[in-house]
Amino acid sequence: SDHNLDYPISPAHMDWASHYPAFVDPDASKINLGGTRKLTKDVEVVDIGCGFGGLLVGLAPILPDTLMVGMEIRVSVLEYVRSRISALRLKQQALKKIAATSTTTQAPSEIPATPEVEDDEVGSTTTIVPGNYENITGIRANTMKFLPNFFGHHQLSKIFVCFPDPHFKARKHKARIISESLNAEYAYVLKPGGLLYTITDVEEYHHWVLRHFKYETAEGENVADEIAGGIRDLWELVSDEELEADPCVRVMKFETEESKKVTRNNGNKYVAVFRRKADPEWP
Ligand code: SAM
Repeated sequence: SDHNLDYPISPAHMDWASHYPAFVDPDASKINLGGTRKLTKDVEVVDIGCGFGGLLVGLAPILPDTLMVGMEIRVSVLEYVRSRISALRLKQQALKKIAATSTTTQAPSEIPATPEVEDDEVGSTTTIVPGNYENITGIRANTMKFLPNFFGHHQLSKIFVCFPDPHFKARKHKARIISESLNAEYAYVLKPGGLLYTITDVEEYHHWVLRHFKYETAEGENVADEIAGGIRDLWELVSDEELEADPCVRVMKFETEESKKVTRNNGNKYVAVFRRKADPEWP
């Protein structure tokens, strides 16, 4: 239950320092409201329902200077993500040490793993990657309830919702992680220009997503701009051409654990990405 969930009373109280030690501000006098050290930058990317962390691990070297967090409600799954990330960080440190002490002129990426770092349950890379996985972490949270406790207004540049639990039955639809009220929270924490990525293998869920961003009617027809109104002032559907050029979409399609399962089963993958527009001007 929520009693077991640890969450800050406001974003300014969140202890991020223990999650991203490499990004702690060197000025020790900079302390947040919770009494922990501040970082040199804000967390900007969130993976909602991150599962085993494949998206984070895939994105870490692509956006090495961006702080990213996976949020997951299941305790054991979150523990796995945390130890996976710790192991990847240790492995990178070991590889760097080897590279630094190597007497040859071999490029770091060609240095083979030593037996100590070869055991690779947690990730396949034996190369030094930008960022050393210091920029990713996982926290246990129920994002349907506590997202604004962790992130402030306009803080995030990307939110990912990858293969959300489908909750097929109509009476379970209220448990879906895309809904009108949750979309309003996503709009609150995303900055203008920020992106909300969705992917699902359930065609009906994809239409649910389009419908809840006012891009489709209940009958599955496209909604014209002039009648969508309201929420449509906040979200713009990103074009297929733009998605093809976005490396994050490739990670979302092929590197999350769920996406791999869908690939193995020859399932379909439906992607929809929405750009957070500027806040509408009040008259
Ligand atoms: N995104 C991952 C992937 O693509 O491999 C995992 C997909 S899995 C089908 C959905 C995940 O969302 C599960 O791990 C589940 O525990 C998590 N989840 C469901 N509701 C949640 C909530 N309210 N807050 C955080 N995580 C949630």
